[in-house]
Amino acid sequence: MNRRDFMTKAGIGGLALGSGLAASSAAQARAQFKWKMVTTWPKNFPGLGTGAEYLAKLIGEMSGGRISVKVYGAKELVPAFEVFDAVSRGTAEMGHGAAYYWKGKVPAAQFFAAMPFGMTAQEFNGWIYHGGGQALWDEVYAPFGVVGMPSGNTGVQMGGWFNREITSLADMKGLKMRIPGLGGEVLKRLGGTPVNLPGGELYTALTSGTIDATEFVGPYNDLAFGLYKAAKYYYYPGFHEPGTCLEAIVNKTALQTLPKDLQAIVKNACKVANQDMLAEFTARNPSALKQLTEQHGVQLRAYPADVTKALREVSVEVVADVAKEDALSKKVYDAYSAFLNASRAYTDISELAYLKARDE
Ligand code: CA
Repeated sequence: MNRRDFMTKAGIGGLALGSGLAASSAAQARAQFKWKMVTTWPKNFPGLGTGAEYLAKLIGEMSGGRISVKVYGAKELVPAFEVFDAVSRGTAEMGHGAAYYWKGKVPAAQFFAAMPFGMTAQEFNGWIYHGGGQALWDEVYAPFGVVGMPSGNTGVQMGGWFNREITSLADMKGLKMRIPGLGGEVLKRLGGTPVNLPGGELYTALTSGTIDATEFVGPYNDLAFGLYKAAKYYYYPGFHEPGTCLEAIVNKTALQTLPKDLQAIVKNACKVANQDMLAEFTARNPSALKQLTEQHGVQLRAYPADVTKALREVSVEVVADVAKEDALSKKVYDAYSAFLNASRAYTDISELAYLKARDE
């Protein structure tokens, strides 16, 4: 039963105003909402797909079963890259993915997933929750009738898997690497060839030599995916995804149709899921990395200093170019850059200074 039905029924009862409201709120407390969540992940994909399942479970538990959310893996209801449209149309009330997938539709969305040499998870959450980021995200998605919210974060990803060593900037020239989005544009400007391939084709593409390298996520996901069998060198850090935010998108009408308490539950469940995914990656990446290096002979490598320097300089240009796409991208870019520059002043003398000190 939707809200209009029970509001009508409460009205038909011909009750006095006071008891009419009481009847209406009692009806609200009983109302059941069955939601669908479409996702860009294969069903139960470690960390990301399981994070979507966790969010659905949380919403069910926190609402005492008043909202039940059925999760669909990619292609089960709609293909991965149609998740945004499905939620916008109302085919599904919710979706789970990453905002950079929608850059063809709305370029400014990219700032709400990951930026090369951009914010870490900690900085991004500060921007979204307390630095004006959420209001901008709402503005970016408003024309589509959806609301985006953080509901997971991978933390700093890995640079990727290479079947040959990178010893200097010259080795980036001609490098065929699967690296989507802005990271791919950075590689291109350094003379490489970015290739976009779905996750399922990476292993074959690497072993056949179609590509020389691929980025993916980090040790936990990459171990599960078996990428160590296709390439030996594992480079860090993932300059292109320094704290990728996974988003929940909710159809605005579906959200506003919920009683206020259930709206709060959906929003706060996303906040809990956001924290939980980062905690899960933080807990699982170290043991996965150990397994990769100790059991599978993976060779860990840092990008050489000249490569890092070039990646950083080109990344700044690539991100600034997103601002040229349209007025809204410029507005979000300005806000993102202002927050990042301001937070760096403190991050440099807190997290960064502390981590360096701890390592000495
Ligand atoms: Ca990645």
